[in-house]
Amino acid sequence: MIETDDKVGAPNPVSALIDSLPVAVYICDTNGYITAYNKPAQQLWATTPIIGETKWCGAFKTYTIDDTLLLPEKNAAAHSMFTGVSAPSQELIVEREDGSRRYVVHHPSVNYNNDGEITGITNTLIDITAQKFDENKQAMLAAIVQSSQDAIISKTLDGIITSWNQGAERLFGYTEQEAIGRSIIMLIPYDRLIEEELIIDRVRNNLSVEHFETLRKHKDRHLIPISLTVSPIKDSKGNIIGASKIARDISRQKMAEEQLQHYAGNLEILNSFGKTISEDMDVQGILQKVTDATTQLTGAKFGAFFYNKLNENGEAYMLYTLSGAPKEAFEKLGMPRNTDVFKTTFKGEGIIRVDDITKDARYGKNAPHHGMPKGHLPVVSYMAVPVISKSGLVIGGLLYGHPEAGRFTNEHEHLVAGVASQAAIALDNAKLYEEVRMLNAKKDEFIGLASHELKTPVTSINGYLQIIERSLAGNDRNTAFVTKARMQVSKLSALIADLLDVSKIITGKLPLSYTVFNLQELLLESVDVLQQTHISHAIQIEHCDKPILIKADQQRIEQVIINLLSNAVKYSPDADKVLIKLVERDGYAVISVQDFGIGIPKDEQERIFSRFYRVDNIADHISGLGIGLYICNEIISRHQGRLRVSSELGKGSTFSFELPIIA
Ligand code: ADP
Repeated sequence: MIETDDKVGAPNPVSALIDSLPVAVYICDTNGYITAYNKPAQQLWATTPIIGETKWCGAFKTYTIDDTLLLPEKNAAAHSMFTGVSAPSQELIVEREDGSRRYVVHHPSVNYNNDGEITGITNTLIDITAQKFDENKQAMLAAIVQSSQDAIISKTLDGIITSWNQGAERLFGYTEQEAIGRSIIMLIPYDRLIEEELIIDRVRNNLSVEHFETLRKHKDRHLIPISLTVSPIKDSKGNIIGASKIARDISRQKMAEEQLQHYAGNLEILNSFGKTISEDMDVQGILQKVTDATTQLTGAKFGAFFYNKLNENGEAYMLYTLSGAPKEAFEKLGMPRNTDVFKTTFKGEGIIRVDDITKDARYGKNAPHHGMPKGHLPVVSYMAVPVISKSGLVIGGLLYGHPEAGRFTNEHEHLVAGVASQAAIALDNAKLYEEVRMLNAKKDEFIGLASHELKTPVTSINGYLQIIERSLAGNDRNTAFVTKARMQVSKLSALIADLLDVSKIITGKLPLSYTVFNLQELLLESVDVLQQTHISHAIQIEHCDKPILIKADQQRIEQVIINLLSNAVKYSPDADKVLIKLVERDGYAVISVQDFGIGIPKDEQERIFSRFYRVDNIADHISGLGIGLYICNEIISRHQGRLRVSSELGKGSTFSFELPIIA
């Protein structure tokens, strides 16, 4: 309902019509007082103006579009009134008392009476807030697109670029003017053109492509790793008319990934390498592993390890290993000499890393080659790391080369220095091992020689004692001494025989002569022999009644039985019996010797079969050389059997072995 100053509020069709207009309308008299307004005006201002009191405008406050406060008497309606000329349409901001704002366009128009005199102003206000928001939204979106770090591009379904933001300019190097209108193909590397077809195919089918990692081409032709998201663009009717494409530069991410992979790879190499060289006792093997691993770690074209060694005459020579280059590449060139470049490394003065050795002041100073000899691998990047042992001795040098400049970095230097110190330890160990091996070989040689030399005099002593024994009358008081002397001599010759056996085993010359015999009989005879000299213990036998035939070296098997029985007696000083059993099991004859003596600790049970090994402390007061079980084990193994022990400390031990029975 339109309100007027005369309050003649009776509804009439004209006022109803004015109220139903979608625009706010009000009238001011020549003094600016509002004399009439419609409902939309009241709604716009969110207040009711007082007729004849409110001047020029019913709004709480008005602002120009650039947000400057506009006093009512300064607004366009007042201006039109004072000038008598209707002002052009203008945008305004209307603020209500609650602070809410509406954007309007107002059209003040001057009213005249029939005499042509000005009677006032009619002001029409059109609410454009919704439209304004749309505009703002668009502008905001455009600003977002423009300021995005990502490249945002739109293109037609034929691949023609229709928009290009600053991100795209930064990423691909083309300006907006250069890019718009051109085909998107300019960004695609030749070998990836098929991707565009596949992408457009998806877009045509109303499907997106999300976070697709690929490569695109910069204006200067270098390739950029990107993550691509492409979505269809539709017109107002829903038809697909193009595609929007967001490309994110993932170079940093890719670099980080590569770096991570690189570190993981290095770690793996170092890990496996560390383990294998610490286990390796062979110098050549260690040198090769170190050379291979460090050449791989540094990305060198070739790597070499030069190792100072002394030969048997104490003369120095160099062992070397290569990686990445054939031996022939070095053979003609001789060993690294005392040149200005090499001597620093071989004097252990530190690491040398040169981006371009041909430009180095130390390079090319030495005759005859003056630089790299003809046929040498082309080396530009050069790195050399001395390998220094714990004692401070320079034991060698690791050298790396690459035909391109600046290939070796600080990181490589650290890696190789770390490996070099590990290698030095491994080489020191290998050297010690080699020395121990040589001493061991000398010792074995000595045992062989000594036992051989001892055998002849002991045999003749035994012979002379026999002659003396026979020459003495039965009641001569010296007979007992001679008999005792003969017993000691036979102990001595048994020891010498054992030592000789050890020496034969070491040299692989322990002969076996196989015959078929009854094991049961052999067992009984052996027990018989032993029981006569070992009366402190009763040797109890358990065996089946039927003969057990085996094919073996009878004398050696007897040696094993006697050895096990005498150990059983020897290591059970407080017991009075020993058990020996012969049973038949699954086609095998099994002999076991059980005692009730001192026993063997669990952690020693494996070792007692080794040469010269004796269990410390426990059997210290019981004499022996620690070779009996070693010989027994060898004899049984040579017969395809196995000598085992089960034992409990303080309770006793059981030694057993098995031999195949002849059917
Ligand atoms: P030796 O008896 O001459 O020392 P062996 O090679 O026969 O050498 O035995 C090696 C070691 O095994 C012995 O020193 C001893 O410590 C242990 N051993 C062997 N037999 C027994 C046993 N029956 N009971 C306890 N310890 C034993």
